[in-house]
Amino acid sequence: MTGATDPQQHSPATLAVHAGRPARAQGAGINPPITLNSTFVSQGEIPPGELFYGRADTDAWHAFEDALAALEGARQRGIVFGSGMSAVASVLSLVPPGGVVVLPRHAYHTSKLVAQDLAERQRATVREVDIADTAAVVAALDGADLLLAESPTNPVLEVADLPALLAAARDRGVVTVVDNTFATPLGQRPLALGADLVVHSVSKYIAGHSDVVLGAVLTDDAALAERIRGHRALHGAIAGPFEVWLALRGLRTLPLRYERACANADELARRLADHPAVAGVRHPSLPGDPGHERARAQMSTYGAVIGLRPAAGAGRSPGEAADAVVAALRLWTPATSLGGVESLVERRRRLGSESATVPEDFLRLSVGIEDVEDLWADLDQALRSQG
Ligand SMILES: *Cc1c(COP(=O)(O)O)cnc(C)c1O
Repeated sequence: MTGATDPQQHSPATLAVHAGRPARAQGAGINPPITLNSTFVSQGEIPPGELFYGRADTDAWHAFEDALAALEGARQRGIVFGSGMSAVASVLSLVPPGGVVVLPRHAYHTSKLVAQDLAERQRATVREVDIADTAAVVAALDGADLLLAESPTNPVLEVADLPALLAAARDRGVVTVVDNTFATPLGQRPLALGADLVVHSVSKYIAGHSDVVLGAVLTDDAALAERIRGHRALHGAIAGPFEVWLALRGLRTLPLRYERACANADELARRLADHPAVAGVRHPSLPGDPGHERARAQMSTYGAVIGLRPAAGAGRSPGEAADAVVAALRLWTPATSLGGVESLVERRRRLGSESATVPEDFLRLSVGIEDVEDLWADLDQALRSQG
């Protein structure tokens, strides 16, 4: 790693600012340059680590990859991808032909679609589990090859007992992956909890400004890193230099943004739980939430996504009532995705591909970093306008 950071000694807030900086030298830039090269001078044998072609590796990625690895506490350089889904696809490529994948029934819906596609083409068997039901997940791990865990899950915010599941998987020789998009390395560090691999949709909190689509894989294991890097080089799901540079700029402020968004979410969840026009709220910060105790024990924040089910007005289906609340919001923007500085809202079942066990009226709120009173006033007026 370049720069003077030490993941053993510095806290995440410091690593986010300093990791991946160019070496300190008189006249050197504070930031890494954006380098644009498809090829590098090279002849004869290619020693490991030497750059030779931009699909295989490029220095344009390294500062970001080092910074994210420092934040996740990963011993290997990170592996950036052109999207979160290409990162997910790379870890699923570790499943042998005819192998068994275990994943949450409420995993990110596109991850589920990819797994279902593998099953339909008879490339693998997929076992969908309630990731919060530890005994059920452990039973499903028998004879499995790979666990793709998510906690909290997108969108319904179930919290897994990650230490127990990762230990059970290890005992059974199951490769473990944690999609850490929701918690970010500031909320939990899955490698330290025993995961083999971490995947991120960098498009969300890490980049944080709803302006890039990128993904990443992190691991401590040199052999796994080599396989994932090989997959990236073969399949070419690579990131552009400018997008990676923007993601690194976003990562510099991740601790500040995430802290503010999580504090806003805690406050809004508490107020929504008491709102007369609300039928249900999911957020791990709420003492009555099914994920509360686990999140309190294993995460350092409760995350900044809230699940909200508005009370249905007379003569309206729950889905219509939820759509009407979204339409009445002025500050919250209706859009898919999450993790940006601006607050977004989405009725998930408007997507035909979302799991049918997610309620029709389930609104996913991605809480941004605005003033919490402004966010509350808008939510309150939209909910009340449906009375
Ligand atoms: C968005 C998301 C992904 C997919 O990432 P993209 O960058 O959109 O390809 C994967 N997992 C989770 C939990 C996500 O929220």
